[in-house]
Amino acid sequence: MKQIFVTGGVVSSLGKGLTAGALGALLEGHGLRVELKKFDPYLNLDPGTMSPLQHGEVYVLEDGTETDLDLGHYERFTHAVLGRRHSLTSGRIYESVLQKERNGEYLGQTVQTIPHVTDAIKEQLQVVDERADLCITEIGGTIGDIEGLPFLEALRQFALERGREDVVFLHLTLLPYLRAAEELKTKPTQQSVAKLREIGIQPDILVCRTEREISPDMRRKISLFCNVSPRAVVEERDLQDSIYELPSVLHREQLDALVLERLGLRPRRAYEDIWSDILRRIREPSCRCRIGLVGKYVSCKDAYKSVYEALAHAGIALCCRVEIRTIDAEALESPEAAELLKGLDGILVPGGFGTRGVEGKIRAANYAREQQIPYFGICLGMQMATVAFARRVLGRPEAHSAEFDPRGAYPVIRRLDSQQDTASRGATMRLGSRPCHLKAGSLARRLYGSEEIFERHRHRYEFNRELEEAFESRGMLISGRCPGDGAVEILELAQHPYYLAVQFHPEFQSKPWQAHPLFRGFLQAALDRAQENS
Ligand code: GLN
Repeated sequence: MKQIFVTGGVVSSLGKGLTAGALGALLEGHGLRVELKKFDPYLNLDPGTMSPLQHGEVYVLEDGTETDLDLGHYERFTHAVLGRRHSLTSGRIYESVLQKERNGEYLGQTVQTIPHVTDAIKEQLQVVDERADLCITEIGGTIGDIEGLPFLEALRQFALERGREDVVFLHLTLLPYLRAAEELKTKPTQQSVAKLREIGIQPDILVCRTEREISPDMRRKISLFCNVSPRAVVEERDLQDSIYELPSVLHREQLDALVLERLGLRPRRAYEDIWSDILRRIREPSCRCRIGLVGKYVSCKDAYKSVYEALAHAGIALCCRVEIRTIDAEALESPEAAELLKGLDGILVPGGFGTRGVEGKIRAANYAREQQIPYFGICLGMQMATVAFARRVLGRPEAHSAEFDPRGAYPVIRRLDSQQDTASRGATMRLGSRPCHLKAGSLARRLYGSEEIFERHRHRYEFNRELEEAFESRGMLISGRCPGDGAVEILELAQHPYYLAVQFHPEFQSKPWQAHPLFRGFLQAALDRAQENS
């Protein structure tokens, strides 16, 4: 199988994940089947234990693997369905090497980075879906990081053993613009490529992030100094309106043609462009509405990445410009903070962990319910909606989640049975895709348009089933359940324009060309409210 390796130089946050995803989208546009992987050089076994403030959201795959948010980009840009083998860290590699050492599989040898760690990485590179035409593998981090070296060394060896014609090295780099000199600067790019060549990797394609156009002279200079053909110097200008411009930008630069040619791959059909229509809808919205997102990590723009994207997808579907007002849940706890919730057409409370800000989320859930404002609660946002309901509607002010009040007298949310004795923090939650049966006549059933659906999970606590009757008797309907164990997955209020709360994470299954039905339903309700009020 053909391989494309994506590395990044000069600075972090250049958008390697987006570029890899957009390239995948372009190749799919030619009818090819792509697989995408990410190798992260840090030592955590997976990002599940990392703070979203540091590393952005934890994305969850169908099989329950907790991954870096770049895998979210891959799944949003392409049709690939990813799993555990598509997300690897140094921690996982070292774990496997150390396990082999303990099992005596190295037969008395000294275990070393080269060849044993690099062999383990190469082994993972070989694990591919036979039906795919090619695999794009992104290496996290920036060239020059010490941790990344074993991965790069493994790529070099892989290309040598496999043959250069089956491998493309794509290097993403930055051309900073210096205002004083009024020009783009190529030196950091030259140095980053020099560093790669020192390791024995000659990039085939340079994708250059830039805020200005790259002149033909500048292209020639980069080509000469970095030893790539001028055609292979690809301009990636800063995007104006949306990340979904990227496939079209790279197509105009003929990145797809370049890759196909370099790998000797033949397109299976004439290029099919699905992105122009999406962009038209983003650029020419026919309406707008304002959504408040109440969370504790709002200071980090990557912490709720998939939620923002899923809202954007609903906006694309409805030709609606979605303005998102982020509201710090903790700030909502002060008495005068009700102001923060004024003027919203919809309120969304996403997932989260830990006590900080939960009272603010409960307040938002109460406010939306009482003011008839569309509400969408996801995971912790669902749990806090039930606490809010128990305290105000059921008249149980002592109600809480056992996560925050372990000995509380009215635990509306309790620890999952499977979680009672787990002390370990890594990959131990109820994770991944589970079926959910939807109740006939419910809002959820109407929105999904089917009886059984599958959604991805990541939680330790759940709705206390002993309280089902109390909730339903006061109008909070249980409209979705896991068919196996009967776990409560969806709650909704009948006497409300849209009050829906789900235990799972629908944001992980939304696509730009196919908005998730619950996000679409939520946005439609918000839009109806915006139009009523205007
Ligand atoms: N902290 C809650 C739980 O573990 C919610 C988790 C989440 O929002 N992802 O159940």
